[in-house]
Amino acid sequence: MIARKLDGQALAETIRGEIAPQVAAFQTRYGRPPGLAIVLVGDNPASEVYVRGKLKSGRAVGFRADLERLPATASLEDLLGLVARLNLNTDIDGILVQAPLPKGLGPDAETRVFDAIAPEKDVDGFTPGNVGRLVQGRPSLVPCTPLGVIELLTREHIAVAGKRACVIGRSDIVGKPMALLLMQRDATVTICHSKTVDLPAVSREADIVVAAIGKPGLVTKEFVKPGATVIDVGMNKVTDPEVAASLFAEGHPRLAKFRENGSVLVGDVHPEVADVAGALTPVPGGVGPMTIAMLMTNTLRAAKARAAGGHVPAGR
Ligand code: NAD
Repeated sequence: MIARKLDGQALAETIRGEIAPQVAAFQTRYGRPPGLAIVLVGDNPASEVYVRGKLKSGRAVGFRADLERLPATASLEDLLGLVARLNLNTDIDGILVQAPLPKGLGPDAETRVFDAIAPEKDVDGFTPGNVGRLVQGRPSLVPCTPLGVIELLTREHIAVAGKRACVIGRSDIVGKPMALLLMQRDATVTICHSKTVDLPAVSREADIVVAAIGKPGLVTKEFVKPGATVIDVGMNKVTDPEVAASLFAEGHPRLAKFRENGSVLVGDVHPEVADVAGALTPVPGGVGPMTIAMLMTNTLRAAKARAAGGHVPAGR
């Protein structure tokens, strides 16, 4: 079996096309565009790339999309001060603080900064209030990556209700909210992690496997029931020639690209899984673009809810 490719890039474009006229209508009605502020601290090269993509996408749909930069030497107080100002700025509807924050800000910096974002502007869905509302199935802003996976499954007509789903990874930003969203759509969900015993056997029981691990190619054929849907959230930059050779056969164009560039972006799912899965997201071009599209959706939703005088916008 050669898996059907779930093209997140194309779907994300469709979603942007749906959002743009709503942004124009918002502008006409309220005399301003929805506003997104992205806070970037320091100069992490991967974060620079992600932030550029988010700003570009925001501007493409007609948002005001501001980059708020702080140097790596900024203090936690500087950053909290910036977030406080953005909370009060009435032209800003969505605030995203790009992780990871520089180590120098201290071990609890991310928690403190995310906690400081006004819940109605928390377009990443990371604040405790929004997480709690998600757990209870109440309207909330939901983390973009798992929301993007649900959107992709829905638009690709992949049934979730009654299916067995296995989420590999239990992070706050992907694994946990992913499992909740699947459960709320009536899947029977198993959450796996680094201490799960016989992970391939557990995963093999699933109709839908979501890999959010951060280990290149960890999910091999042995993890996948023939015909299952496999969603690859992982985004790993591989620079080790041995790892690249374990993922791509000699002659594969991506191995040639690796040799040319010295690195290749791969997911957590081994390319051989395409031989057994029924449907599979590519990396790049799968979950990544959907994540950015959901940031647009969340920002528009936050803007509409704020403009209408509400606080936390209704979720999907
Ligand atoms: P994380 O490091 O916070 O969590 C990783 C999880 O994987 C942990 O819960 C851990 O228990 C589990 N894990 C680690 N090793 C394992 C193993 N050997 N077997 C089973 N489970 C194991 O990572 P995260 O922030 O959830 O991100 C996961 C991956 O998704 C990364 O590659 C990240 O870059 C990517 N990501 C992609 C997007 C996107 O837009 N596509 C968004 C967020 C994260």
